[in-house]
Amino acid sequence: MSLIRFNNLYKTNLSKQLLTRSILTRSILAAKCYQYRDFHDSIKSNNTTTSPSSNQSIIPQLNQPTSPSSVIETPLTQQPKPSSIEYLSDFNNLEIISFFMIGLCTLNKPILNLCIKLFPYVPISIIKKLVYRIYCGGETIGEVKQTGLRLHDRGINNMMISLTIEDCEGNGESQIDTDYIVSETSKSIEKILVPHTLEMINQAADINDIPPGYVALKSTGFDKNAAATLKDFNTSKKAEFDSLVEKISSVCQTIYDSNEKLFKKYNDRTSPFVVGVIDAEKFELQEGVYELQRRLYEKFNPLNKPISIVGTLQMYLSNSASLLTFEEKFANEKGYRLGLKLVRGAYLHSEKNRDEVIHKTKTDTDVNYNKGISYCIDSILNQKGNESIIGHLVVASHNSESLKLASNKIFNESTIGNNNKLNVVLGQLLGMADSVTYDLIKNLKINNVIKYVAWGPPFETKQYLLRRLEENGDAVKNDNGWPLVKASTAILFKRLLGRA
Ligand SMILES: Cc1cc2nc3c(=O)[nH]c(=O)nc-3n(C[C@H](O)[C@H](O)[C@H](O)COP(=O)(O)OP(=O)(O)OC[C@H]3O[C@@H](n4cnc5c(N)ncnc54)[C@H](O)[C@@H]3O)c2cc1C
Repeated sequence: MSLIRFNNLYKTNLSKQLLTRSILTRSILAAKCYQYRDFHDSIKSNNTTTSPSSNQSIIPQLNQPTSPSSVIETPLTQQPKPSSIEYLSDFNNLEIISFFMIGLCTLNKPILNLCIKLFPYVPISIIKKLVYRIYCGGETIGEVKQTGLRLHDRGINNMMISLTIEDCEGNGESQIDTDYIVSETSKSIEKILVPHTLEMINQAADINDIPPGYVALKSTGFDKNAAATLKDFNTSKKAEFDSLVEKISSVCQTIYDSNEKLFKKYNDRTSPFVVGVIDAEKFELQEGVYELQRRLYEKFNPLNKPISIVGTLQMYLSNSASLLTFEEKFANEKGYRLGLKLVRGAYLHSEKNRDEVIHKTKTDTDVNYNKGISYCIDSILNQKGNESIIGHLVVASHNSESLKLASNKIFNESTIGNNNKLNVVLGQLLGMADSVTYDLIKNLKINNVIKYVAWGPPFETKQYLLRRLEENGDAVKNDNGWPLVKASTAILFKRLLGRA
């Protein structure tokens, strides 16, 4: 399809979309209260809150059937896919050349598989020249700050930064210096997130226009033998687990103190300025991670105050709906608030007990994800201040339907004047789903959008880049490959001829 034909088709689709959007918004709103109760009640009936005092699993029963009546048929599947071309105009020539390279690597599955095999042998200096800038925020604090400003030029006003030094497998052989990670992460909050957020706020018309800055905290980066510590957190590894909690707590204290200080100065702000986010790991480590999250919530998310800590729930887990209900009830009993990042889940292919722990189909995961985000958004919007137990949500996804469902729920006539909508933020990984991010900002005019920005030493970011390349296997079906090669070539030629 030619570029012009594609553009025209996209414009026609866009106007159709705008026409249908208000109808969709109304139908979603009409269904909102019903969905909310339905989701909550269906899981509540299956659970009672128990204190996690023994080593016994407190994670609710697996594979609970979803009642057919609670399945939402979202009409958003009728919405057109976002443009695969327009978004490239926001990038500079070097970045367009990187996209061209990604397009070549993802032309088809055999080529991609070959690139994945060769990738470990390609020197980091070449990788840095070719694709690094698309996916990584840089090696130093100064480079990450520059990335933040480049994102701002694209209308993305904040980031979720992640220092990518971790023992991914947690197999006890890692050489990571956990004290260095603690000090470097705390430094990144003070030197990147706080100044960047304030700079964005100072340029904004309204203090509530700018989403918070996030720092992703991977528990596997804060312990030399993280897998064992997280698995046996309540028995043989109690002491190591307490030390892991202490290390992450010291970073969270920096976040909490920064929020306290900034709220004194800017008391009209509704959402936090900076937030710590606990990443989710493979299933066998998750009980330890949930326990870590609960301890941090209790310490840093007191009632009637903005959230400082966000934990992650993987909605591809068949027990995730029950878990969400459990966490809310437990928080209520203990007297703290919940911050949540909802993801579908990244360990589908490596999960040992996939059939037992993960939803049977992608559709089941999608339905569960959409119900989860709808429920959390309704809870947050139901209050205008800091009263709700669920106080902050990051919709972490590249799925345009889930993101549009979220944005339709956050931005509509009923939420005008409700600043709690700033407590729902949409996040995508840097270099992934850029067309979706563009669509949210430029076409749907959503300002609560952030990018997850990995940064750190070249060797570690090389591992991260490999994972992104592998993930592009799924994206081969979307707007990578040949369409990306054609689009980036077209833009470069237009710029060369002075027409763009
Ligand atoms: C900002 C951000 C932070 C993230 N943090 C984490 C994290 O802490 N922990 C983590 O695990 N992941 C994390 N992820 C990754 C996330 O879990 C997903 O793997 C990724 O975003 C792809 O899912 P999607 O929602 O974007 O969309 P889609 O492309 O629509 O969904 C793909 C996902 O659907 C699910 N799926 C696919 N096929 C099936 C099937 N047959 N049966 C059941 N489910 C299926 C899988 O989860 C798969 O990853 C993060 C993503 C983002 C954007």
